[in-house]
Amino acid sequence: MSDPLMLDAPKAGRGGADTQASTTTLRVTEVFLSLQGETSRAGLPTVFIRLTGCPLRCRWCDTTYSFQGGETVTLNSILTRVAEYGVATVCVTGGEPLAQKNCSTLLTALCDAGYSVSLETSGALDISAVDPRVSRIVDIKPPESGEEARNRWENIAHLTSHDEIKFVLANRADYEWAREVIRSQGLAQVCPVLLSPVQAELPPAQLAEWILADRLPVRMQVQLHKLLWGNAPGK
Ligand code: SF4
Repeated sequence: MSDPLMLDAPKAGRGGADTQASTTTLRVTEVFLSLQGETSRAGLPTVFIRLTGCPLRCRWCDTTYSFQGGETVTLNSILTRVAEYGVATVCVTGGEPLAQKNCSTLLTALCDAGYSVSLETSGALDISAVDPRVSRIVDIKPPESGEEARNRWENIAHLTSHDEIKFVLANRADYEWAREVIRSQGLAQVCPVLLSPVQAELPPAQLAEWILADRLPVRMQVQLHKLLWGNAPGK
């Protein structure tokens, strides 16, 4: 019996789509296989495509190495590289992936190839044009991130139950701010809501106690990949 997590390599050779895949390029920081560390997909073997660049500067950002550098890679090359890993789940992350105009083309190509695709995005850019087959993991930036003003609130109207909202919280004030946003916007009725503590700033057990005390309808998460491998790159 075949493993449901394993996929055959995508089929090559579809005329116009092939031409587009060989001429479309993206700036890529890294492609790697790991366990998904967050979201409802936590624990699943996943190929990560980390696109280069981000217009935000969250105070606690843990992927600052993706702001610059990377290499320009064709869509074809990315699809080939992803297929070599032989897993069914792909996450496009950054940086801020949507800052690259060809990100939507990449997402659609991955869906067409049969992958289960998620997108991790800052919540600062328009998500409405993303392929609806993609599960969009949309951050809402609390005050301590330093990027609260960048929240694109119009995105909430585009979310479906297939998507997820994520808050990364640094302290009690961030938590209370997120709680108010969740309640006032009815976010738990829209899609799963994830709360994460900023590593080394907010003890996870403290966040857990606050959520329980408030009976907040959210899912708390800690970053599985950091428990397993610390801050090792490519994990
Ligand atoms: S949006 Fe993400 S990648 Fe960009 S600065 Fe914030 S945490 Fe870092």
